[in-house]
Amino acid sequence: MNKPTITAPHRSFLLPTKQTRRETQRHARKAPHSPSSGGGDEESESVDMYFLAHGDTVPSDDSAPEYVPNDVFLPPGLNVHIWATPSYSIRWLTLVRALAGTLSPLETLRDRMHNVHFTPLEKTQLDVAQKLADAKHLDLVALGVGPESNVRRLELCNSGRCGRSDQLYHNCNGLLGLYTDHKNNHQLPFDDLFLLCCQGEDIGPDDELSGSTRDVAAEMFNGKLTYEERMEKWKSLDLVAQAEALDYEGIRAFYQNILLEEYCAQKGDTDAALYQYYLDLDDDAKEYFTNPKSNAGFLIKTEFKDAVKRAIGAVGA
Ligand SMILES: [Zn+2]
Repeated sequence: MNKPTITAPHRSFLLPTKQTRRETQRHARKAPHSPSSGGGDEESESVDMYFLAHGDTVPSDDSAPEYVPNDVFLPPGLNVHIWATPSYSIRWLTLVRALAGTLSPLETLRDRMHNVHFTPLEKTQLDVAQKLADAKHLDLVALGVGPESNVRRLELCNSGRCGRSDQLYHNCNGLLGLYTDHKNNHQLPFDDLFLLCCQGEDIGPDDELSGSTRDVAAEMFNGKLTYEERMEKWKSLDLVAQAEALDYEGIRAFYQNILLEEYCAQKGDTDAALYQYYLDLDDDAKEYFTNPKSNAGFLIKTEFKDAVKRAIGAVGA
């Protein structure tokens, strides 16, 4: 993949996309074609950005505490691809298949679209989505919970001035404004924005897990399995199937084991590190570790639960 990596001047508020691809500025693809470049097609390549967050429709009245427009101007040349229309949610399976490239967008919008209000996504979904995006070489930016992100709310645009005749670009603190490069003719560094977020809570058409993924996931709920046996079943699924299986709450609980192992490999397993890990969990995930009555808590390795409880006692008490 020869896609430029997207950089935004204010992107530190978002969880970073891993800088795995070569750093190429947008204007590079418009440079005269070099005969020695081996016939690359950089000139015609469009730049994609995938944005992942919880989303909701911005209300059409102005009852919000701060004024945000409910109709957003899209600069010329920008295509916004959506998998949920206003007031509708996006199913987890839809999101996975969108990232895996097996499900086309529901609609592509140009010129104007309904504003969207974004809130942070949980660690589990973020982690899996990032792994999928890495495997597919997608530029993914996410609004997430955790110490790396200090943003709790964000809109596509949060100013009524954007898109007026005297300002045909975004100069706001919304997603579009934060990515607008004012030093480069108010350009956005991408042509195609793939919005992986809900626009409300209404339920749209349902997707289904494939039979084989469903069977393996169901086997993992067997209370008689050891942790190792469960892990073996998990590893028999490929990356996309693993991501799809997170549609089940129990599998999301099980995935906490993997997140915690990865975290400890990086940050160590001291009480302070484990307590910080616990603090950054969303409420459902906290329950898996600490509430003996949690439905899915049995899918967490006992040693992990004990370690987290010990850390809460030692550091959090
Ligand atoms: Zn704006």
